[in-house]
Amino acid sequence: MSNLEAAPVELAGRGGEPTVGGAEVLTARDVPLGGPRAMRVRRTLPQHKRSLIGAWCFADHYGPDDVTASAGMDVPPHPHTGLQTVSWLFAGEVEHRDSLGSHALVRPGELNLMTAGHGICHSEVSTPATTVLHGVQLWVALPDAHRNRARDFQHYVPPAADLGDATARVFLGSLAGETSPVPTYSPLLGAEIVLAAHARLSLPAEPSYEHGVLVDAGPVSMSGTRLQRAELGYLPPGAATVELANLTDEPARVLLLGGAPFEEDIVMWWNFVGRSHEEIAAFREAWEAELDQFGRVEGYQGTPRRLPAPVLPSVRLKPRTRR
Ligand code: MN
Repeated sequence: MSNLEAAPVELAGRGGEPTVGGAEVLTARDVPLGGPRAMRVRRTLPQHKRSLIGAWCFADHYGPDDVTASAGMDVPPHPHTGLQTVSWLFAGEVEHRDSLGSHALVRPGELNLMTAGHGICHSEVSTPATTVLHGVQLWVALPDAHRNRARDFQHYVPPAADLGDATARVFLGSLAGETSPVPTYSPLLGAEIVLAAHARLSLPAEPSYEHGVLVDAGPVSMSGTRLQRAELGYLPPGAATVELANLTDEPARVLLLGGAPFEEDIVMWWNFVGRSHEEIAAFREAWEAELDQFGRVEGYQGTPRRLPAPVLPSVRLKPRTRR
C-alpha cells in the first residue's frame, strides 16, 4: 500500500510507562489514505513512542470494511525503496502488480512479501468479488547490507499449526516448531495466531528479540497487559515467553511480530526508507523523472497512471532511532 499521510507523526498512545513485567501499549491513530477511494487505516508503527519492533517499521490495520458501496482499495503504481512489504489479509482479495512483472492475488492467510531493495513500484486493487476488506499492511526495513539488493516477490501459504487452544500461521521466521522457508534479511518473526474463547497461550520467545502483538479481534492480554482491537503491545528483549490470553467468549486473532533490535538509524518518508534526507530527495526525484530505478507496472487499468510523490517538507527529514 502507499503511505499517503502528509502530516508528520503526531503524538499518540497513552503516555504511560510500560507496566512492570507487562507490555507497553501502542495505540493506533486513524489515518486516511486519501484518493478518490479513500480508505481509513489504524496506524501503530511508526509513532512517537516507538519507530520499530525488530526491523518491522510500519503497521497499518484496516477493516473489516464493507466495500460493496465504496469500491474498495485502488492504489495506483507507486514506488518503494529499502524495505519489504507484507500484505496480510483476513478477508477480501487484492490484485497485486509490480515492476518485477509479478501479478498475484493476495488472499487471506497467505504471505505476499515484496522486496523493494534498490527500487520497485506496484499497484494494489481489490477484486470485484471482494465485499469485505480486512487486513494488515506491514513494512520491514532492510539492513544496510541488503537495502540495495534487487527487487523480489515471494508468495507463501503457511500451514495452520495446532497449538491446542490456538492455531498459528508462521509466515516469517520460527515459532513453536514451525519455520517459514521465506528468507529474511534480519532476524525476524511474523505469525498470525487465532485463540479460542478464553484460551491462554505461553509461547516460547527468542530472548534476543523484541516482540509486538497487534490485535485484530480481542481484547487479549499480552504478558498481563490488556490490548484492545488495533492496539500494538510491545515487549523489550529479554522475555523468555510471550503470554497471550483471549479475554472474550469469541475467537481472538492477533499478529505476533518479533525481531532483533534494528540498530541502524533510518529515514522514512512517503514510501521510501533511506538513510539521509539527501537520499530520500534523490529517490523522490527519480520517481518523478520516471527513471529506471523503479521500473514500470504493466496492466494497471485505473487512474492516475502513477501516484505523484508529495512535496518534500521544508525542514530536513530526520533519522528515526529504535525509540
Ligand atoms: Mn505499496
